[in-house]
Amino acid sequence: MKSIGILGGTFDPIHFGHLRLAEEAADALHLGNIRIIPAGLPYHRDATATAVEHRVAMTRLAIAGNPRFMLDDREVLRDGPSYTVDTLIELRAELGFALPIVVLMGTDAFRNIATWHRYPELFTLAHIAILTRAGMPPDWLNTVDSELRRELKSRLVTQERILHDGPAGCIISVDMTPLEISATDIRARLRTGRSVRYLLPAPVLEYIESRQLYAA
Ligand code: ATP
Repeated sequence: MKSIGILGGTFDPIHFGHLRLAEEAADALHLGNIRIIPAGLPYHRDATATAVEHRVAMTRLAIAGNPRFMLDDREVLRDGPSYTVDTLIELRAELGFALPIVVLMGTDAFRNIATWHRYPELFTLAHIAILTRAGMPPDWLNTVDSELRRELKSRLVTQERILHDGPAGCIISVDMTPLEISATDIRARLRTGRSVRYLLPAPVLEYIESRQLYAA
């Protein structure tokens, strides 16, 4: 079985930035498939997210037809906050401990890594790939404090094949096509009646329009 990737997010709504992140990570890291995992209750965010059934439905529409992507709705089915560590523990119970699992994230998400629930355990369960996101400093390691930086540096690998030699514990940085798209900006445009066409897949936009999601 080939190594797998996981991409968690609020996906409120899912857009081409998320999809290119996953697609480019699959290519660069030779991942067999990517599980796209909408967060249930994103504990580290203040804003109330759109109802989970809409976020899941939009995610399903967005990834339809891509054989490398699969929707994994375990976090929205779980009670309580969404913790990546719990998701990884469940995945390990299902997939075993030998398979490399790579948690994919943008640099902005990585910057807060030390605040993630039981964060040191993440490295016993998975590798982390940081996809360099538009507008972020290229030297993403400098975005974390110096103590943490030392630890993270020791986990850093530059060759993707090293990820496939072990199930967990490494960090790798992957450049992706910069796409300055954010869900916050999409919501703001929709609230003010501006177009969001070409920022997200057309079926997702149709879903949003037909239900008047994000309207003022
Ligand atoms: P919001 O604007 O509501 O914070 P978002 O667009 O950043 O949302 P999230 O669901 O919070 O989307 O992000 C999920 C993951 O996708 C995170 O790891 C984030 O870094 C990454 N990501 C989001 N947008 C982009 C983008 N344009 N390019 C690269 N990575 C992205």
